[in-house]
Amino acid sequence: MDSAELDKRHVWHPFTQMREWNAGEPLVIVEAEGAVLRDAQGFEYLDGNSSIWTNLHGHRRAEIDGAIREQLGRVAHTSFLGLTNDVAPQFAFELLRAITRSDTPEGWRVFFSDDGSTAVEAGLKMIHQARQQRGEKERRVFVSLGAGYHGDTVGAMSVGHSTVFHSAYRGLMFGSREVMSPACYRCPFNRAAPERGMDARLSRKCEWECVGAAAKALDDLGDAASAFVMEPRVQGAAGMTMHAHGYLSRIAALCRERGVWLMLDEVMTGFGRTGAMFACQHEGVMPDVLALGKGITGGYLPLAATVASAEIFAAFDGEHSEWRTFFHGHSYSGNQLGCAAALASLRLLGTVHPMAHVRSRGEFLRVLAQKFWEHPNVGDVRCEGMICAIEIVEDFVTRRRFPAENRTGFRVSEAARKHWLITRCVGDVLVLMPPYCVSEEQLAQAVDGLWRALCGVVPAK
Ligand code: PMP
Repeated sequence: MDSAELDKRHVWHPFTQMREWNAGEPLVIVEAEGAVLRDAQGFEYLDGNSSIWTNLHGHRRAEIDGAIREQLGRVAHTSFLGLTNDVAPQFAFELLRAITRSDTPEGWRVFFSDDGSTAVEAGLKMIHQARQQRGEKERRVFVSLGAGYHGDTVGAMSVGHSTVFHSAYRGLMFGSREVMSPACYRCPFNRAAPERGMDARLSRKCEWECVGAAAKALDDLGDAASAFVMEPRVQGAAGMTMHAHGYLSRIAALCRERGVWLMLDEVMTGFGRTGAMFACQHEGVMPDVLALGKGITGGYLPLAATVASAEIFAAFDGEHSEWRTFFHGHSYSGNQLGCAAALASLRLLGTVHPMAHVRSRGEFLRVLAQKFWEHPNVGDVRCEGMICAIEIVEDFVTRRRFPAENRTGFRVSEAARKHWLITRCVGDVLVLMPPYCVSEEQLAQAVDGLWRALCGVVPAK
């Protein structure tokens, strides 16, 4: 039996209505090279969303392949409980150098896990336990952004605020305080920058009402606030919504003034995706906890990291008998193959794909994507680094969405496959975020493919 048939009989896919899946013909990817994927029939596609935001340097990148092979020649995995290895500490050091931009990143600690959700989960538990052990037992409440998504484990869901993803599990989740997302396009204070054809007078000068709302939430909570959790600059699963420059640094200042820790989820934005190595570096912000995953191995293997400040780490210091240990861990913590890939990927970010490269490729994509403004149902085209999002709406002026049941974005993404492009929308937000190795010709072809798919599903009257 071929893979497609076996899949339909035995496999359960993530975020997928399996009845619908089983009625269709699955695309079976068998090979890839660079930014291109190849299916079982030999058809090729551009990996337009970097295999769900993970791949950085392209597929079958010689340096990463080689690093994994070399590691495989020695050992694939040994336990990180009671042992260490000769790869994970090297990667921890290099990672901290990249985060702190210092050759002596003293005090910071890297806790390894397997994916973005576990990196977030570990961060939340670390913060909660640190508060307890510092005698700040009242500081229990996490504050997080509207529409936020931080993963699917129960803790990560609890600091998320996405109706679609979380409503079925509400009964399992602990409460967190939601503050408005600073996503400019749907700013309820009508402060969004004017777009094509908009009367500039309609949008008023931004007075950082979103920061005011966050300050009010923190003040209401007072000493109950433990940490502010957010994706910096771009909220991925919320629809690639983008924040104005200055929001993050203002939130960091509010937190600092109030003794609230800042936990940044850079699972999607990390490792250059926004045109800076880490999105927080755009605003010179250093969080207390940083969650990383996805691109950490260049998109090769499941590895994740939670980086903690010296202050948080110090809260766990003590004699064994004091039970201040961080009681959390995973079988594959510090996995050698993953860390070898991660080290190789980090080196490529310093050599083949430095931030100047990501920014210039991203700028090329941004300029190409301006074409989408020609379509009457495109409400917003927003780009940061190598992320380009095109939000389609039923009505441009009021920004009214298409009815969700129309699944407009989904149909456009599906149609794009016939135009050489694989991507996945978030609701009605179309996403182009290919690996950094993508060529200018491939970008032009991808934009053209998405444009044709859009015009096929939503004719430009
Ligand atoms: N945080 C963010 C910002 C994410 O985008 C995601 C995944 N889309 C996660 C956490 C969860 O990561 P994973 O799917 O690897 O568990």
